[in-house]
Parts: sequence; structure tokens; C-alpha cells
Amino acid sequence: MTAIRLTAPLKGWACSLDEVPDAVFAGRMLGDGIAIDPVGTSLHAPCDGEVLTLHSGGHAITLRGVGGVELLMHIGIDTVQLGGAPFTARVAPGERVTQGQVLIEFDLDAIVCAAPSVVTPILVTNGDAFRIVAHGGGRMVEPGDVVLTLEPVAAREAVAETGGERVSAEVRVPMAHGIHARPAARIGDVAKGFSATSWLVKGGAQATTRGAVGLLGLGIRHGDVIEVRASGADAAQAVAALVALIEGGMGEATAPDAPPPAPIAPAPAGLRDLPAGQLGGTLAAAGYAIGTARWLRVAEIEVPVDGQGIEVEAQRLERALGAVRARLAAAPGTGAGAAIRAAHIAFLDDDDLRAEADRGIVGGQDAGHAWRGATRAQAMVLKGLGDSRLAERADDLLDLERQVLAELTGAETAALAFAPGTILLADDLLPSQVMALDPAAVVGLAIERGGPTSHVAILAGTMGLPALVAIGAPLQDVADGTTLILDADGGVVHVDPPEAVLAEARAIAGRRADAAAAALAAAGEACRTADGVRIEAFANLGSVEDARIAVANGAEGSGLLRTEFLFLERDTAPDATEQAALYGEIAGVLEGRPLIVRLLDVGGDKPAPYLPIAPEENPALGLRGIRVALAMPKILEAQLRGILSVRPVGQCRIMIPMVASVAEIVAVRAVVDRLRGEMGIAERVEVGIMVETPAAAVTAGTLAAHADFLSIGTNDLTQYALAMDRGNPAVAAGIDGLHPAVLQLIAHTAQGAARHGRWVGVCGGLASDGLAVPLLIGLGITELSAAPRFVPELKALVRTLSIDRCHALATRALAAASAGEVRAMVRDFLKEQAA
Ligand code: PEP
Ligand code: MG
Repeated sequence: MTAIRLTAPLKGWACSLDEVPDAVFAGRMLGDGIAIDPVGTSLHAPCDGEVLTLHSGGHAITLRGVGGVELLMHIGIDTVQLGGAPFTARVAPGERVTQGQVLIEFDLDAIVCAAPSVVTPILVTNGDAFRIVAHGGGRMVEPGDVVLTLEPVAAREAVAETGGERVSAEVRVPMAHGIHARPAARIGDVAKGFSATSWLVKGGAQATTRGAVGLLGLGIRHGDVIEVRASGADAAQAVAALVALIEGGMGEATAPDAPPPAPIAPAPAGLRDLPAGQLGGTLAAAGYAIGTARWLRVAEIEVPVDGQGIEVEAQRLERALGAVRARLAAAPGTGAGAAIRAAHIAFLDDDDLRAEADRGIVGGQDAGHAWRGATRAQAMVLKGLGDSRLAERADDLLDLERQVLAELTGAETAALAFAPGTILLADDLLPSQVMALDPAAVVGLAIERGGPTSHVAILAGTMGLPALVAIGAPLQDVADGTTLILDADGGVVHVDPPEAVLAEARAIAGRRADAAAAALAAAGEACRTADGVRIEAFANLGSVEDARIAVANGAEGSGLLRTEFLFLERDTAPDATEQAALYGEIAGVLEGRPLIVRLLDVGGDKPAPYLPIAPEENPALGLRGIRVALAMPKILEAQLRGILSVRPVGQCRIMIPMVASVAEIVAVRAVVDRLRGEMGIAERVEVGIMVETPAAAVTAGTLAAHADFLSIGTNDLTQYALAMDRGNPAVAAGIDGLHPAVLQLIAHTAQGAARHGRWVGVCGGLASDGLAVPLLIGLGITELSAAPRFVPELKALVRTLSIDRCHALATRALAAASAGEVRAMVRDFLKEQAA
């Protein structure tokens, strides 16, 4: 077959994929090709062919062209976030097109303003079948200019015609770090020198040697025995060369007898000096439980490598995806579980994930094998982005892998059944596994890895299951059947405690249960300290359901509505009307109680699909919170209009996240005042700020002159004060808001606010931490916005405290040497008070 010439689909500067500011494209994870930085506004067909897919957002299209070459053209980077607005499709899937025909027209200016880059990758996605022999980069091109020349890979034809030779051999991996990115790239390079198609196979999984992501996804470690497989005319030579390459160690450290390097363990137990028989962990969901250890070890679902034909496998995958989607959509419930299911459905509908699986099927794979390959490759990409929050989302992908494979193979996914009183132990847990637990049987979770902000942590909290994460390797020594005391609040698991400790724990659990029942019974009463000082007991909300739970638990209002959680599953920004309806519904459930609506806090660890933010090296220090809103005035205005539309005016107060300077408050208030004028609202509307940056805490006295109230976000204030990423399990053990440095910032905030007569609240995690409450009150905090289910306990605790004693306690805590010392101090304080 002769060479295939592809012409430029765009007018613009043609360049190498290396110049695309996106790791997935630049890394050729979806295929090799070229990129064009466009100056024109239409995308043309680079060859005759047929439209295979057109993304619903209009920004990406795939074609099957002459000779069977498959092409993906993706206009700009992260343009899926634009929700289709700048794109107009001129063709439809299934349509035949001729070279030069206009496929998509687009508004270049709109993309330039809203997306991180307009550079458009043009990729050959079936690179196994075609080799690029010439790139026409480094020059201005017009539609019609040849930019890529391809040749079919001869081996393909040979395999097709002759059935091809299949050869395989086993090899032990000597490299100390296994097959990581560099060896994977070397393997790909060597494989390209042969016409045969080759794969590495580990266990039941295989990956082509030409895809680094797939190879990494096999998780090949030092000492693993893997199979090198090849098919085609020179298969034997290819296998011999690859085996020699791997056996030779590729210049990597080989250390044949050394054990593989230990992963960087969170090892909180190592950071804390705990007596024998106790394991330290990081609090993921509060509570206290006594139970019996039971490991959850789920075997990997086995799937064959080879499929039964493209058509059969494509239909099997389609059916399995449909069944999982339908099950997720039909599951009852709202709140965190529903939001997580919505996120899973979005993953199932992800075109790129599906295209990757389809490529595996077209390559002859079984549907399950292809799906596993696609999800693992994407999970690897997420884990490699250096963002712990995104890495935690990789668990969601692995969860979906399992659900779809279970559907395909009929493997067991029924609710996990455990005896009553089980404390579940796991290396890691998937969100769907937590959702499937019966809270009447499982009384707590102890997890070796995991992150305190993962979906698993959120779900455990919603289900009322105490949970510790990041316990580290020592958890592996706990055998099934061992008696455990899980003190999540104290960050400790007691393993096989002596009878005396157990008896004490039973007494504690009994007292806690009685106290919880009494607190709930009294939750409707006002919240005052023992000496009569009014403390507002509010609740943090992320959904309408949360508001219902808050009211049922006696919350006197909401000190934080996390509005970014309301529109998680959206890929277009909600307009003012939609927002007004939702805020109004929540305000209605609160029946007139105050509702503090926080302006969208996206960016950093909270990406929103509908707001494009260019990749950042340090997202926590980048475009997040109010910085995003001020950079996108239309988003800010729509949200403020939504809030101001709620009646009665004044029930909703406005709160600005991540404030660092006066100018941000002044800018928001100016928009609020302009909109009040336009909407005919005479009443003043309160605008307060979150104190989450050390800058805001230190200058609280200045900021308070411009803000109606201040509410301290102790989660972020702690991470910024201690320079410890709140989502990184490696530093999780050190993140404690009772660190004296954080307490000093809180004290400083309260003093600054008092100079202007402003009230100060806390809406971060410390408001739901029983040991923090006396300190916060002692430091001058008068509003505490806690997790809805903690409100009864919060109110009961406040009623036992007196301001003077809390103040004396706080003064001592400010001078303490560590968070541990502060916690011990408060424990003694509460014990003395109870005596
Ligand atoms: C905080 O930072 O403490 C806070 C309440 O905001 P979020 O946890 O939503 O970042
Ligand atoms: Mg915050």
C-alpha cells in the first residue's frame, strides 16, 4: 500500500506534539501526530473518510480515513469545559467527508479567552497499524498543505494475510524500580524497530509495547516474571531483543537481591509515639467503636485477553456500560452518595475513556480486558498529575473498572455481608464498596492507605461510620477476628486490648451512646454556655438533604453552604435562575434560619468541570476561591443574582472564600451593590469573609473594617499555616488545626474583628472537633458551623462550658509546644470539668 498524505485541517502554525501544554497529548498517550496553533476558524477534513464520532461538546472529532487510518482532532486544550458554546459542527457521525471539507467551525476568540490553549492536536489513534514517516511541523500551514505522511505497518498486513507468527518468552525484571516511565519508553523504542506487534503480559493483563501508559498500568515490579509476546513476520527477533533489553536492566539500578523500594508510607504511627498495641491513623470520619477485625480482600476479576470478534465485544461492552449506568442512576438517595454516583456516571460517559476501550476491542481484545486497560491508563494519568485530590479520583475509576467487569463476567458484587460488630480493615476501599456496606453490621473502618478528603472518607462520615485512614503497613499485622477499639477522634486503634482496657472502652461507648441520645433529645434548645453566653450552633451544608439533616439535629442556621458541591455533576455553569431555585429551596428547608452562602470555591483541590482552569504547578497556591470569581465576572454575577433573588432578602448572607486582601472584598461588595440597584433591593445584604489564608488572619483588623463577619476556614488555614497539603496522606498525620501556630492565627483574627465589633465564626473542621470547641470559645469565637450530625453533641458540649475557664485554657494552649500537647490539655480540662 502506498503512503497516506494527510493535509492540514487548520490554518496556523504547525508544531510538534511536544509543544502541546497537556501531558496526555504531549506524551502521545492517545496517539502520535502533529499539532497546529490555529489562526483560522474552521477545521477541515485532512483526507477523505467517514466521521466516526463527534463529541457532544463539538470540540473533538474522530475520522476513519483512507486505508483505515483513524484520526482524532481536538480543538484546543480542556475545551470540553466550554460546554460546546464556541463550536458549530458541520458534519454528523456516520457522514462521508472529502478532503478539505469543513467539519467544525469555531469562535477562536472565545476559545482563546476561556481555554488554557487553542493548540489543536491531530493524532493517529491506531498507531499500531500506521507509522508516521514525515511531519510537516515548524511552519505556517493552510488547509490543503500536507502535514503528515503515514505508511501502513507491514507486519499488520503480514499478520492479516498469513495469520502471523506468534512467539513468546518469559523474563524476570531485574530493575530495582520495575517498569516505570523511562524503561517503558525504552521498550517502546526498541519495539518500533520491528514490524511485529509486541506486548508485555503480567498476570492476566497485557499491554502493547508501544503505549507507555498501558505498560505502566501493568504495575510491573522488581522481581516480577513477565511474558514478552509478539506476533508478525519478525516476532522471534522482536521477542529476543525485548527480552535482552529487559534482562540487561536498561542501565537502571538492578539490585537483584534487594527488596523493591518501599512506597513513601504515610506512617502516622511512626510520627506519633504510641504504646505497644496501638496503631495511629488519620481521622477520616469521627466516632468510637468496639468490634472484631475483618479484612476486606477482594480478588481481581479475571477476564480473558483475547476477544470473540469486534462486533461481539463492542456489544458486550455497550450492554455492560448501560447496565452499570442504569443501576447507578436508579439507586435511591441524595447527598454525598448521589453526588458520587453522578461523578461515576460522568466517568462512564467519558468519550475518551470509551474511545480507548474501543481501540482495545478493535485490536482484538476481550471487552473486559479493553475496559480494564482504558480505566487503568486513565487512572495512571490522574495519579501522575501530582494533585492528591485528582489521585483520589483514580479510585473512582478503579471502582468503575470493577463494576463493569463484574457486569461482564457475572462476578459477585452483591452487598458485602459481615457479622454484626465488624470493624472493616482494608488496604484501600472503593466508594461503591463503602456504599454497599450494611451500617447495622459494620461499625467502623480502618484503612492502611486512603486520604482524609477522599470520597470514601466523605461517605463514611455521611453513614456515621467512624474511620481512620493512612494507618500504614502495621495494620497488615492485625489478624481477622482480633478485638479492636477504634477511637477515630483520638486517631488510634487499640489492637487486642487487655480486658481492663476493653471494659473501660465499653463503658466509654455506653456513655457516648447515652450522651448522644440525650444530646439529640435536647438538640432543639438554644445554645448557650453554662454561664449564659450565646454561641450560635450552625451546620455546614452541601445539599438540600444536608439542610434537612441539619434542621432535624437542631442547627440554628447554616454557617457555610458549599455551593461548589451543588453543581458537581454539571459540565456547564448553572445560570442565575437555577441557582436562585436551589438556594431558595435550601433556605426554605431552613425555615427562616440564617443561610451563609459561600461564593463558589473552585480551583485548588476542588476542580469544577464547567470552569476551565489551566493546569498549575501549585494549584493550592493558584487560581482558587475568590480569585476565580474575580477572573470570571459573569460566573460571579450569575451567582450573586441567584443569592439576591432568594426571599426574604437577608436570610441569605454572602461569604467570600480564600480572601487575602481588602481589594477582593471591595470588588465583591461593589458588584453586590450594583446588582441590588438593578434588582431593586433596598435592604442591605451582609457580605462576610472566610479567613483561610495566614494573610487574612494576620490582617483581620484591617479586613474587618470592610466585612460584616469573619468565618475561619480551619481546614485551609491549617494547610497554609503549616505548609502541609490537606489532601496528601504523606503529611496527614501532621495536619492538626490545634497546632499552636493555627491557634495563634485564630486568636489574632478574633482580636482584629473585635476592634470593629464584628463576630467571628469557625466553619472548618475544628468546629466539629469536640476537643477544639472549648478552645475556640475561649479564643472569642461565637458561631460554630459543624457537620450536621455533630450539632446535638456540639450544643450539649457548649452547655457544659464557662467562658472564663475556656479563656484560661486557650491562653495556656497558645503557649503549648505541639498539637499533641494541646489535645492532652483539653482532655484533662474536660475530665476535670466532668468530675
Ligand atoms: C475550610 O477551608 O476550612 C473550609 C471550611 O472550606 P473548604 O473545606 O470547603 O475548603
Ligand atoms: Mg477552604
